[in-house]
Amino acid sequence: MGTPASPRERNTPLGGPASVVDTGCPLDCPDACSLAVTVHHGKVVTIDGSDRNPTTKGFICAKVRKFGDRVYGPDRLLHPGVRIGRKGEGRFERLPWDEALELVVDRMQRAKAESGGESILPYSYGGSNGLMTQDNLDATLWRRFGTSRLARTVCAAPTGAANMALYGKMSSVTYDDYPEARLIILWGVNPSASGIHMVPYVREAQKRGAKLVVIDPRSTQLARAADVHLAVRPGTDVAVALAIHHFLFANGFADEAFLNAHTHHADRLRERAAEWPIAKAAELAGVDAPALERVAELYAASSPALIRCGWGLERNRNGGNAAMAVLSLPAVAGKFGVRGGGYAMSNSASWNIVRPWIGAPEPATRLVNMNHLGRVLLEERTPPVNVLFVYNCNPAATVPDQNRVIQGLQREDLFTVVFEQVMTDTALYADVVLPATTFLEGYDFSKAYGPINLDLGRPVIDAVGESRSNADVFGELCSRLGLLHEDEPSDELDLLVRVLDGLPGTIGADLRNGARPSPPGGTRPIQFVDVFPNTPERKVDLFPEAFETSAPLGLFRYQPDPATDRYPLALISPASDQTISSTLGELLRGEVRLLMHPADAEPRGLADNDLVRIFNDQGEVHCSLSVLPTIRPGTVSLPKGLWRRSTRNGVTGTALVPDTLTDIGGGACFNDARVEVASLPVA
Ligand code: SF4
Repeated sequence: MGTPASPRERNTPLGGPASVVDTGCPLDCPDACSLAVTVHHGKVVTIDGSDRNPTTKGFICAKVRKFGDRVYGPDRLLHPGVRIGRKGEGRFERLPWDEALELVVDRMQRAKAESGGESILPYSYGGSNGLMTQDNLDATLWRRFGTSRLARTVCAAPTGAANMALYGKMSSVTYDDYPEARLIILWGVNPSASGIHMVPYVREAQKRGAKLVVIDPRSTQLARAADVHLAVRPGTDVAVALAIHHFLFANGFADEAFLNAHTHHADRLRERAAEWPIAKAAELAGVDAPALERVAELYAASSPALIRCGWGLERNRNGGNAAMAVLSLPAVAGKFGVRGGGYAMSNSASWNIVRPWIGAPEPATRLVNMNHLGRVLLEERTPPVNVLFVYNCNPAATVPDQNRVIQGLQREDLFTVVFEQVMTDTALYADVVLPATTFLEGYDFSKAYGPINLDLGRPVIDAVGESRSNADVFGELCSRLGLLHEDEPSDELDLLVRVLDGLPGTIGADLRNGARPSPPGGTRPIQFVDVFPNTPERKVDLFPEAFETSAPLGLFRYQPDPATDRYPLALISPASDQTISSTLGELLRGEVRLLMHPADAEPRGLADNDLVRIFNDQGEVHCSLSVLPTIRPGTVSLPKGLWRRSTRNGVTGTALVPDTLTDIGGGACFNDARVEVASLPVA
C-alpha cells in the first residue's frame, strides 16, 4: 500500500473527477471480495468487483453493488444529535461533535460514580467489521473504564465453540479445493444467498463428477441440483449427524487407525451415536430413512469427502451438539489428509491474530449474553444498566425477544448512545446518535472466512457529512476520559500503523507493499497435512468433558422440539440475498413475505398473497404470504435481518424468538420460534 495517506490528503476529495479506486469488502460474508469503486467528483458512482482477489474473480453480490444507496440514502446519519422527542420517535436536534462527546463522557462518568462501571453496557457485534473497527480502541475504552462485558453470541457461538473444542479452530478447506472433492455435503448453509462465490466451485466439483448433498429445511437452488436433499426439521441436525456416525461405526466404516492416532474418546461418541439408528433419526427429522442411509453410504464410500458446516444448524436449542456431531464426522470417517477432504468452516482464525493493540487485559467484570438484552435492560438490578452504548449492530432488529428489547430501550432512566451509519431501528431509541463512516470512507481489514484471504481496504471517498470512524471516536472518548497513554494512537491513521505493526509475521509488511499475505498453513491447506488441530498433542477430543457437564442433557444429546398444539410451526429466519444480517435492511423495497408449504396453507384456509398474522405468546407479525413447496411442511420462513418497516405492524420475526440459549456456546435460538399463522382480516 505504500505510506498511508496523511490527514491532509484525506481531507482532499478522493478520486479526482473520475477514477476507479481499489478496496476490499469487510462486510459479514465469507468471501471478502476485492472491489473496484468508480468515484466521480468525490462521490461513489458504481461499485464493482476487481480481480485482485483470485478467488472472488471480479464479481460481487447485488447487495454491495447498491451500497452507495446506504452511503447517500435518506437514512444516513450526517451529524451527531440529541433526542428531542419521545424514545422511538427518532427526533433529534443537531449537536456539534464536541458537545455530543462531552455529553456521553459526562453520562458515563455519572453512571460509574453512582452505580459502578458495570452499569454501562457496551453493545456491539462485529460481523461486518475488520481489525480497525472492532476490538480495537473500543475494547481499550471498555476494559480500562471497567464496564460490563458482552458475550457476542448472536451468531457463530455454538459452531465456534465446537470447532474450538474439537480442532482448536484449525484452518479448513477453502473454495479453491472444493472441486477436488468427490462428495460435498452442504449442511445448514445456502451460498446462493450469502457467500455466493462458493457456488461456482461446487458446480465445478459436480461437473467433475462429485455428488452433492444438501441438508436444509428449504429447497434452495443448490438443494434442487443436489443428488440428495434432506429437508430436516429444524433442531434435529444433531440426530441426523449421530445417525451417520452410528452407520459408520456399526458397519466398519469408522477409520480406526485415524481414531487411534489422532483422537481421544471415540468410544464415548460411539456410545452416544448408538442411540440413533438411521430409522429413528429419520423419523425425528422428518426425512426418508433410505435417503438418510444413502447419505451415510455416500459419505462412507467417497474420498475426498467434504462437509461444509454452515450456521443454520446452530440456531436452536441443540445447535452446539449439532455442530459437534457434524464437525466430528470427518475424524470418525478418516476424511482428512487429502486435498478437498475434511470440513469447511470459518477460516477467520487462520491468521493467528491476537490483537496486541488492545491496551488492557480483559477485566473480570459482569458478562452479559447479548441474546439477553431485553431481559437485562428490564430485570438486571446488580447494578441496573444505566448507560447502553450501541455500535456495529442493530439489536432492536436482530436479537431475540424484540418486544422486550424495545421495552428496555424505552426506559426513561436509560441513557442510550447509538454510534451508527444510518438511522436504524435501534438508533430511533437513542438519547444521543453519533454518525459513523462506512467502509468506503475509512481503512479496514477485510478478512475472508470462506477462502483464506486478508486485504486492506482503503477510503475511496471522504467521510460523508460529519461522520467519523470508530478509531477516531473511541480514541477521543478514551482521551477525554483520561484512559489513553501518551504513546498510544488516538486516530485512524496512527491506529492503522499500529495494527499493521501488530500483525504476526510478515502480514503487515505484505499489506503495506500491496502483496497478498499468506498465513502459516497457506491459503489452500490440506487438513492433517499442512495444518493440524490447535489442541493439546494436536489431537481431536471427540468427547470434551466440559460440554458433557455444561450442556443441559449432556454431550450428543437431543432436547425435544418446543412446538405445542397451539404453536406447531417452526419459524426459521435464514440469510437472504438482500441484506447482510440487518445491514442494508433500510433499502428493502416492498413487503416481506412469509414462506409456507401448501400442505400447511390448505388446512388453515390460506392462499398465496393473503395477509397473515404469525403469532405466539411473545408477539405477532403481520405480512403477506407466499405459498410454495420450497420449504418443508411444518416449517415457515421469514428472511433474516428485517427492519421493522418491512412488516405491516412494525414487528419482525425476532419478536417471536425466545431468548433461550443453545446447549453449547450460549448462542441464539432463532429457529426455536414456534408459531401459528392465521389470516389477517383487512380493516
Ligand atoms: S458481501 Fe460478500 S459477495 Fe458481496 S461484495 Fe462483500 S464479500 Fe463480496
